[in-house]
Amino acid sequence: MENKTSEKLTAYLYAAAAPSEEQKNRFEAFLKNKYDKEIKLEWIEDKEIKGFKLVYDREIYNWTPEGRFAQLKDKLSEISLRYASKSQPDQMITLLKKSIEDFELEAVAEEEGKVKTVGDGIVVVEGLDSVRYGEIVVFESGVKGMVQDLRRGEIGVILFGEDDEITDGSLVRRTKKTAGIAVGEGFIGRVVDALGNPVDNKGDIQAMDYRALETPAPSIIDRQPVNEPMDTGLISIDSMFPIGRGQRELIIGDRQTGKTTVALDTIINQKGNGVICIYVAIGQKASSVAQLVRTLNKFDAMSYTIVVNASASEPAPLQYIAPYAGTALGEYFMDKGKDVLIVYDDLSKHAIAYRALSLLLERSPGREAYPGDVFYLHSRLLERSAHLSAEKGGGSLTALPIVETQAGDVSAYIPTNIISITDGQIFLESELFFAGQRPAVNVGLSVSRVGGAAQTKAMKKAAGGVRLDLAQYREMEVFTQFSSDLDDATKKQLVYGQGLMRLLRQPQSHPMKLHEKVITLVAATAHVMQDIPIESMLDFRSKLFDYFHANNMSLCNSIDDNGIFSEDEKKTIISEAEKFRDDYMNSLVDEDGE
Ligand code: ATP
Ligand code: MG
Repeated sequence: MENKTSEKLTAYLYAAAAPSEEQKNRFEAFLKNKYDKEIKLEWIEDKEIKGFKLVYDREIYNWTPEGRFAQLKDKLSEISLRYASKSQPDQMITLLKKSIEDFELEAVAEEEGKVKTVGDGIVVVEGLDSVRYGEIVVFESGVKGMVQDLRRGEIGVILFGEDDEITDGSLVRRTKKTAGIAVGEGFIGRVVDALGNPVDNKGDIQAMDYRALETPAPSIIDRQPVNEPMDTGLISIDSMFPIGRGQRELIIGDRQTGKTTVALDTIINQKGNGVICIYVAIGQKASSVAQLVRTLNKFDAMSYTIVVNASASEPAPLQYIAPYAGTALGEYFMDKGKDVLIVYDDLSKHAIAYRALSLLLERSPGREAYPGDVFYLHSRLLERSAHLSAEKGGGSLTALPIVETQAGDVSAYIPTNIISITDGQIFLESELFFAGQRPAVNVGLSVSRVGGAAQTKAMKKAAGGVRLDLAQYREMEVFTQFSSDLDDATKKQLVYGQGLMRLLRQPQSHPMKLHEKVITLVAATAHVMQDIPIESMLDFRSKLFDYFHANNMSLCNSIDDNGIFSEDEKKTIISEAEKFRDDYMNSLVDEDGE
């Protein structure tokens, strides 16, 4: 092996005029001190340079005004970001003033690399030997990239912009910053790209802090159990698959089965309860995201929501980092003790973007051509969801990742991976969806592993037997499919099950309040709706709500406010529902009679 250290014993000083003997001695002493060997200084005349530039091996000490200015600028922006959120503006100004007064140029080594090859948004760079994984590097054209692959003698960089102006041999500079995103309250209500730049024409966003895209997940000690509900407002989910704050619940199903709608309804349902929502769109059509933002605006839900959009037309690197950027934003609020809901729509497209990147970086493909670390890709993302301990402020980050399946195949590579990482899944089924059962939740295959502890008492009490009743109904349905003569008891059971299934239907953007869910379930499981014709069931339900709102508003309020109802109140619900049912049935008869 060649001995690298012995060969380079000359440093070059770029300056307009030759250094004096004294200056030369000072530089040589500096180099000796820094590299612990005798290094000769050679002057290279450069009329363009003001001040001087010292280059040794691959390191540059930039004492030119531009170099000093760049360093001062870095320092100031670091201070303003670090202190903007923490101190008063006037304190910050003092700090900035002080750091300008105290400013002393540090002899930081600036490494420079050269582009070896470029193509498809991937650049191979030589010469940045001490660069770190995940670090941002800047190209001459100003385009930034992230170090994604470390190899001997060269690195692979993924580009966050166009590669048009990058050519072989052009220079690359380190920034020594890991990839991150500006964060702050100003992001709420905004649509941003994966780098945090606004894309909604509403002006700049005031950053309060800068957070790395990838950070370690909170440790076990910093967490507490999931014990508060994150209501979706969807009766089919809140009753049987309750989600808790800090949980990760997968929404999985074929294309066009209402996956996005479940997440969107959940966001709309958070109105007025202080939860901050983040919707991360990955690899979707820009028009669908625009439509979604319109819906959010329509329900006044953008006032507590951030949309991070890396649409299908954007480079794969941006699609790849988008969920991490969204999570960094979410963590900022979680660390302030807030409850945050984040939707990743969807992680199948995220995995595909990552696969494209990895293949271009020439990593060896594994199962379904995904790189070997695709599991780790999603686990390190979803591990960051948490319910923080009281000492850590008690904030939470609840994740609703979405995964698209092909022909209902949950055993494909990416679905099984993510199922195993999450705390349960809401399985949406095409067959149900087309039969009109929307949300198309498959009750048998869906599960929520930790949310039970977080369900409100009222919901738990009201929904107690529903899952079992539905399981019995499904079994019976299969058995009785081909027999025509059924005994009365079986018939009744079937009608009851059908009615229950019908009551789980819900139009989109119509989240239900707790009392509405409770009334529906208490009345249904008490067989109040047994004789309602199935096609009138949803009409009956909405009129039943109107009836309760007109006659029993204090009971409704008490359920919503306290999250609990007594045995007496249960009896009231049943008797009132029966009273209304009788009127309703009579009105049906009248209509038929006419
Ligand atoms: P994709 O695979 O394209 O992302 P998706 O699974 O996210 O689709 P959505 O976009 O949420 O599905 O919904 C598909 C269509 O079904 C939409 O037009 C939506 O309006 C409709 N839809 C979803 N849920 C309901 C519902 N509960 N009631 C009525 N229509 C619904
Ligand atoms: Mg969708």
